[in-house]
Amino acid sequence: MPSKPDTLDRFSLPDAAGHFGGYGGVFVPETLMTALSELAAAYEVARKDPKFQAELRHYLKEFAGRPTELYFAEGLTKHAGGAKIYLKREDLLHTGAHKINNALAQALLAKRMGKKRIIAETGAGQHGVATAAACAKFGLECVVYMGAHDMARQALNVFRMRLMGAEVRGVEAGQKTLKEAINEAMRDWVTNVRTTHYILGTAYGSHPYPMMVRDFHRVIGQEAKEQILAREGRLPDELIACVGGGSNAIGLFFEFLEEPNVRMIGVEAGGRGITQGAHAARFAGGRLGVLQGCKTFLLQNADGQIELTHSVSAGLDYAAVGPEHAFYRERGRIEFAYATDDEVLEVFQLCSRLEGIIPALESTHALVEGLKRAKQLGKDKVIIVNLSGRGDKDVEQVAKILAAKS
Ligand SMILES: *Cc1c(COP(=O)(O)O)cnc(C)c1O
Repeated sequence: MPSKPDTLDRFSLPDAAGHFGGYGGVFVPETLMTALSELAAAYEVARKDPKFQAELRHYLKEFAGRPTELYFAEGLTKHAGGAKIYLKREDLLHTGAHKINNALAQALLAKRMGKKRIIAETGAGQHGVATAAACAKFGLECVVYMGAHDMARQALNVFRMRLMGAEVRGVEAGQKTLKEAINEAMRDWVTNVRTTHYILGTAYGSHPYPMMVRDFHRVIGQEAKEQILAREGRLPDELIACVGGGSNAIGLFFEFLEEPNVRMIGVEAGGRGITQGAHAARFAGGRLGVLQGCKTFLLQNADGQIELTHSVSAGLDYAAVGPEHAFYRERGRIEFAYATDDEVLEVFQLCSRLEGIIPALESTHALVEGLKRAKQLGKDKVIIVNLSGRGDKDVEQVAKILAAKS
């Protein structure tokens, strides 16, 4: 079934109040309303300012390492025996993932706004590391909130952040993971809003974050479009990306939303399977609700309590999904699938062996789906998989899992 052609102007969303159809919006305490509208106004000016855009382009190139390659994955393509598989190599960026695109851009915006103190949340530590790097680069004070449980699991990333001058504050509440870290960051912001900018790490939360973070990652799709036209002389048949909050996926997809023949698939974390508490596939097991400032699909019980989530990849392990994805799924423009932990562990090893590229566990979810689809498509078809990050951060965890299995 081909995706429905979409007649919607992709730039018409969100509306001024941050709605993507029935999703998104602003659900925060009154004390943050002013900060969010101030941020939206500052971003609106920066976005149209050629000086800001030129400065951002400069740092994306010199500091982050853009453009990234669009790489023909010959080994994986042969293995699948069908469509050509290309990888968009966001794993080659400084700090190891796409997250630096957004962290750099928001740090520049904070400087413009005269805010010298940055706060951020982090789960596995990837966004924290990207933010710490951007703050070190621009001489900004940096405080990163991280669940105490995640700090223990990701001790190396905690060390990296501290090495670059960030203060990492452990959060002891609840499950001691990402959700609690976001709550603490929002609490800090309420208290210090005059001096502080909150660099949120994904296309989620209250307006203007989902729109702004999307815009800062659009460069992925802009480059990919140019690169595939140069390589293949035509647009790809399918785009595939993993979806945690949704930033790397919407970054790749956005440029193609109005291309009716390009199919788009977001891949969520299927964990141990779609039963309560064992996964983070919001579209497979979730319902409409509000979490941390945003109305969207989320995993909750009948009373609206947020369910536990699980994934082998920390970066996809969140109970809610970005509102723009919920909107385009409803319109049938973006489709969603999920990959299980076991599938991911297998393809993690396969990609390492066949390509000499160790993918992040998050990105491997997209690779699982990419291989499945390549097998079903003819050799004349072309798929682009977003390789959102590199797997160096994951090798210790995978080694342990594989040792326990054997
Ligand atoms: C954080 C992360 C993700 C998930 O975040 P999105 O906002 O959904 O992109 C995916 N891949 C990598 C490598 C990450 O670090």
